[in-house]
Amino acid sequence: MKNYLLLISLITFFSCQPDGFVREDGLDAFSVSSLETHLKKIASDEFQGRLPFSEGERITLAYLEETFRNIGLEPGNGNSYLQEVPMVEITATPAPSMTVQSGKRSFTLEGFKDYVIWTERTDEKIELKNDDLIFCGFGIVAPEYNWNDFAGADVKDKVIVVMVNDPGFGSDDNTLFKGNTMTYYGRWTYKFEEAARQGAKGVLIIHDDVPAGYGFWVVQNNWNAPRLYLDERGKNIYHCATVGWVTQSAARKLFEAAGMNWAETLTAARKPGFTAKPMNLKISTSLSVKARYDKSHNVIGKITGSKAPDEYIIYSTHWDHLGIGKPDAEGDSIYNGALDNASGTAGLLELAKAFKSMKAKPHRTLVFLAVTAEEQGLWGSEYYARNPVYPKEKTVANINMDGLNPYGKMKDIVVVGMGQSELEDYLQTEAEAMGRYLSPEPNPVAGYYFRSDHFCFARIGIPALYTNTGIDHIEKGKEYGKQLQDEYVAKYYHKPSDEYDPARWNLEGAVDDLKLLFNVGKRLAFEKTWPQWKEGSEFKAAR
Ligand SMILES: [Zn+2]
Repeated sequence: MKNYLLLISLITFFSCQPDGFVREDGLDAFSVSSLETHLKKIASDEFQGRLPFSEGERITLAYLEETFRNIGLEPGNGNSYLQEVPMVEITATPAPSMTVQSGKRSFTLEGFKDYVIWTERTDEKIELKNDDLIFCGFGIVAPEYNWNDFAGADVKDKVIVVMVNDPGFGSDDNTLFKGNTMTYYGRWTYKFEEAARQGAKGVLIIHDDVPAGYGFWVVQNNWNAPRLYLDERGKNIYHCATVGWVTQSAARKLFEAAGMNWAETLTAARKPGFTAKPMNLKISTSLSVKARYDKSHNVIGKITGSKAPDEYIIYSTHWDHLGIGKPDAEGDSIYNGALDNASGTAGLLELAKAFKSMKAKPHRTLVFLAVTAEEQGLWGSEYYARNPVYPKEKTVANINMDGLNPYGKMKDIVVVGMGQSELEDYLQTEAEAMGRYLSPEPNPVAGYYFRSDHFCFARIGIPALYTNTGIDHIEKGKEYGKQLQDEYVAKYYHKPSDEYDPARWNLEGAVDDLKLLFNVGKRLAFEKTWPQWKEGSEFKAAR
């Protein structure tokens, strides 16, 4: 009886194709050579690393607009392919050091080496002057986990010192937050936001390679570089005077001067009921600030649906990268961002072309959105989420790409933040149809679900799917696949060496992944259903 029911449900499942959906339709449009042509171009030195506000932006926008037009996409924002994103570029020049006063004794910490600070304020001069330091554990207020690091603490106008990640990390306890899987509370962006909500004057996160998911050099790369924020003039929004990071060894010095036992204090902070500890240290330093207001741009094209034109499926990817910066050992100063994210941008163009090539016309509207300023804080997608061109209630799904697979064919595809939404079930169905399977993130501690543009869609309730390169290499297996990803983080991530190199790259796997994401969007485009967030997702309430 059981088997019989299973058979019936399988038959129903497989025969239940939405009207008009043909799995093969449009797949022929994908090719390695076409993807490579776009990728090579967008990642070339000519595009200057695609920094928002720069000549690189102008060149990138021109290329995307022209290609959207050639593909036959309709303008996605009224009669324009562009959505203006008003932003402010803040260039903060910090004083070279910070003085720490401990009773009568004082010592200095060296900028760049010991700590990195910047500001989200636009005032010309920012000063910390004998401001109190207070250690606030993880700096987290999470009612659903019954956790409040600020309970009973007065942090107003003080500089808070907090740990990276969340209490679950390294606890071997999956009921403490999400165990080793990072929650949004573990992200530095959250810690800065919470510090501002608490009215702190500043925040310093203690850096640690493993729970942070990257080395201190990633933080240092932001030192003295202009940073972008949304233009919030006329809005009364509080930001901390200084935000930043301190190395672990400098933090140990602070703890020592405060007479606090490093290991004991950190261990106590991992347990519920910890209370913030004033450090009885006063710090002084300053920054001078230049603010420049300008507009960057999201690029939007669409294919209007034939039957449900006011229901939208949005493919997103960020076009920007880091521009021209500090030269590496080889003297290369152009951060080409070939993988991150010329590849996703090229992929978006391939997807658009494939949808245009279909024999059956999609019922729902397909939107192709290349956003700006992801690298600076997901600003292009955040601006879109605050000012959606298409109503969020009418947006069926977001499918985001950030970095395509450069390693050749993989048996699997990685779902980032597995368990979030029913879009994963669509992905599973289509992956199986292509003889592939889904894998969870190999490194859930890094919190990648909060680190690319789909997160801004998720925050406003739109179910968002974010996949990543699989690790089960078709010839060389999983160990090899993992090795490749570790190598990427060590050698190429956010470095001038992230370049397109035909000798190193094999785009066959990327084409497979694009076909898969295409079929997921295509299926949705012929359906009448609305995929939902799964039970337990932190984004369900927003829908
Ligand atoms: Zn990226």
